Amino acid sequence: MQRRVLIIGGGFAGVQAAKVLGNQKGLDVTLLTPHPQLEYHGALYRTVTGRSPLEVVLPFHEIFTEQPSLTVVNDFMVELRPHVHEVRGESGRVYPYDDLLLCLGYEIAYFGIPGMQEHSETVYTIFDSLRLRNRLRDTFLSHAGREVKISIVGAGPSGVEVAGDLGTFAGLVAERYDKQPAKPVVTLVERAPRVLPMFSEEASWLAGERLGALGVELKLTTAVNACHLHHLTVNETEKLPADIVIWTAGSRASSFFEKHPALFSLDQRKKVEVSEFLQANDEDTYVLGDAASTQFSGMAQTAIYDGTFVAENLIRRAKGEAMLPYQPKPPVYVVPIGPDWAVAQEGDKVVSGEAGWAVRREADLMVLRTFLPEEKAQLHWKQGLETAKF
Ligand SMILES: Cc1cc2nc3c(=O)[nH]c(=O)nc-3n(C[C@H](O)[C@H](O)[C@H](O)COP(=O)(O)OP(=O)(O)OC[C@H]3O[C@@H](n4cnc5c(N)ncnc54)[C@H](O)[C@@H]3O)c2cc1C
Repeated sequence: MQRRVLIIGGGFAGVQAAKVLGNQKGLDVTLLTPHPQLEYHGALYRTVTGRSPLEVVLPFHEIFTEQPSLTVVNDFMVELRPHVHEVRGESGRVYPYDDLLLCLGYEIAYFGIPGMQEHSETVYTIFDSLRLRNRLRDTFLSHAGREVKISIVGAGPSGVEVAGDLGTFAGLVAERYDKQPAKPVVTLVERAPRVLPMFSEEASWLAGERLGALGVELKLTTAVNACHLHHLTVNETEKLPADIVIWTAGSRASSFFEKHPALFSLDQRKKVEVSEFLQANDEDTYVLGDAASTQFSGMAQTAIYDGTFVAENLIRRAKGEAMLPYQPKPPVYVVPIGPDWAVAQEGDKVVSGEAGWAVRREADLMVLRTFLPEEKAQLHWKQGLETAKF
């Protein structure tokens, strides 16, 4: 009997596990995913600001080239029956398993802010990002030569990346459509007293200076109370006019786990508590990536690491060897801000400017190489700096 490994979710963790396990003899591996591609989120901001989406979209047929034990099924898990080791998909199909890898990632969260979901744009998937890009293009064209007020809520990496690149996009739109450039007036609204609050103070300061030099207004220590069609309400009574609001302030671990309190224990961040082997609920169920309560979850680098970790442990166990315990791996943080500039932080070490940008481009290529053969990785990577047809 081949051991059946069922992987749910085709993000970084699930795809990495499928890649490693899919070329193992003696395993029957199924990847259940609603999409036919992996999305490289690190490059999403460049899709928003007019660069080719091909750096973001990595089709599975380019990734799974040497995985004879792997079957990819386009479906969405709607029910987990751990007592009989089965999952039911939206299609009605039932998937039995011996080992289950839950790689469900994150979801967007609006924290109940009135009007935010209805009136704001986001950058969490390729579809959100293309929609926002098209709205920006249309607004820049209808405001040629005039101001466009854009408020970005959340000065974490995504908000900062988009804020730093909007001026470039206004220029690209003007050039392509032979119009006067619109003048984006960008405000970055953040509850914390500094941008990139999860970074060191030095990295935050460098990022703040860079954003200032690019003309981005910082509104720090500012709580957003509501979002309306043409303005935000902040600090209870203040009105902040905005032609476009971009929400980058909230994501949370998949809500699937919260709906099954009898099966999963959650930490304060609503992430699933896991054993030293990333198991949850029983010893055949693993939770990987953003949804797992590990020290560095919330980063693609961690999700990839988790995918390799669980896959290699399953291979060890199949060989009759002992599984190894999880050792959290600190990620490198790199945030691009405007053309050819990034701030990078590894431990206490911070680099910025063109040197930071070089670190970032190297990191982009490294992620693509993890999943694609060299030639394809180079192709997607180079396309990421090319202007799209928008
Ligand atoms: C704009 C943006 C920029 C980012 N930039 C970086 C960066 O530069 N560096 C970095 O390290 N990290 C970055 N991240 C974070 C990174 O994208 C996440 O940490 C990473 O995606 C987590 O991987 P994952 O496999 O846990 O989940 P995901 O990548 O979210 O994948 C989960 C998958 O599971 C699927 N799924 C969910 N529920 C089900 C179900 N019931 N049935 C079937 N499938 C299901 C989802 O559709 C999704 O495809 C960024 C995130 C965003 C949004």
